[in-house]
Amino acid sequence: AKNAGRNCYLFYSEKMYRQVRERLEIESDIRNALKNDEFELHYQPKVDANGQVKGAEALLRWQHPLKGNISPAVFIPVAEKSDLIVKIGAWVREKAFHQLALWKKQHFPPIRLSVNVAGQEFTRNTLLQHLITLFQKYDVDQHLLELEITEGTLMESVEQSLMDFRIIKNMDVHISIDDFGTGYCSLGYLKNYPIQTLKIDKSFIDGILINGRDTIITKTVIAMAKSLDMEIVAEGVEKEEQRDFLFGHGCDLIQGYYYSPPLPLAEFEAYVGSMNRE
Ligand code: C2E
Ligand code: CA
Ligand code: CA
Ligand code: CA
Repeated sequence: AKNAGRNCYLFYSEKMYRQVRERLEIESDIRNALKNDEFELHYQPKVDANGQVKGAEALLRWQHPLKGNISPAVFIPVAEKSDLIVKIGAWVREKAFHQLALWKKQHFPPIRLSVNVAGQEFTRNTLLQHLITLFQKYDVDQHLLELEITEGTLMESVEQSLMDFRIIKNMDVHISIDDFGTGYCSLGYLKNYPIQTLKIDKSFIDGILINGRDTIITKTVIAMAKSLDMEIVAEGVEKEEQRDFLFGHGCDLIQGYYYSPPLPLAEFEAYVGSMNRE
C-alpha cells in the first residue's frame, strides 16, 4: 500500500511537472508571438432585428508558425496568470483603435467595436492611461468603443473598477458585462455601475426552447435589462428559432454563428457591405 501511494505521488508530480512545462512553453510562445506579430484580430458581427450590423466583437486569433492555430480559450487563461495578459490587452486595443480610425477615415458605417478586457488590467491600473493615450493618438469616436468585462472580473476588483468605470463612462466609452449569468454576481452592481450593455451567456441561449428554466431566465434578463434602460445582446446564437425568440422578446443585438462566425477583416467588411444597405 505504501508503495502504491508512492507511485501515486510520482504520477501526480510528473503530471504537475508536465503542466508547468506546458504553461511555461505557452508563455514563451506568447512572448514570441507579440514580438513577431503572429496575432490577428477577427471580427464577429452583432446584428439588430432589421438585419443591420451595429457592432462587432474583436477576437484574438493566433497562427503559430509551427503549431498552427492556437485558440484563445487555451492561451488567454495562461496569459492571465502572468503580466502577459496586460501586454496582449494593449496589443488588442492598439489594433482596435487603428481599425476604428481607418473605418472613420473610409466613411465605413459606424460599427461599435468591442474588445475583451481582463481583470488584471483593472487591478494593475494600466487600462485607463492606455485608453487616454490611444484616444490622443487615433481619431476615433469614443462612443464606438466598447469594453467587454466578465462578471468574474468585476467581482475581483470591485472598488478599483467602480472608479475606473465612472471615468470610462465619462469618456463616452461603452461598458458591457460579458457572459452575464455565469458568475457570482449581485444585482446591486447593475444599479451602482455605469453599465450600458448586458451580454447573455451562450449557455442560456443554448437552452432556449429546450429547457424551460433557460427560457424563463433569458426572458427575464431581457425584460430586466429593458426596464433598466440597458442594451441587451445575446451571444452564441446558432439557430433561427433562437433568433426569432430573442428578437421577439426585445433583444437588441444578436451575435453568433447563425449570422456569422468571427471573420478576418476583409470578409467582415464585405459582410457589413452586404447587410447594411438602405
Ligand atoms: P467570449 O468573450 O465569450 O467570446 C465569445 C466566444 O464564442 C468566441 O470564442 C466566439 O468565437 C465564440 N462564438 C461566437 N458565436 C458562437 C456560436 O454561435 N457558437 C459557438 N459555439 N461559439 C460561438 P473564441 O474566439 O474562441 O474566444 C474564446 C474566449 O477567449 C472569449 O470568450 C474570451 O473570453 C477570450 N478572448 C478572445 N479574444 C480575447 C482578447 O482579445 N482578450 C481577452 N482578454 N480575451 C479574449
Ligand atoms: Ca467577449
Ligand atoms: Ca462572451
Ligand atoms: Ca460566453
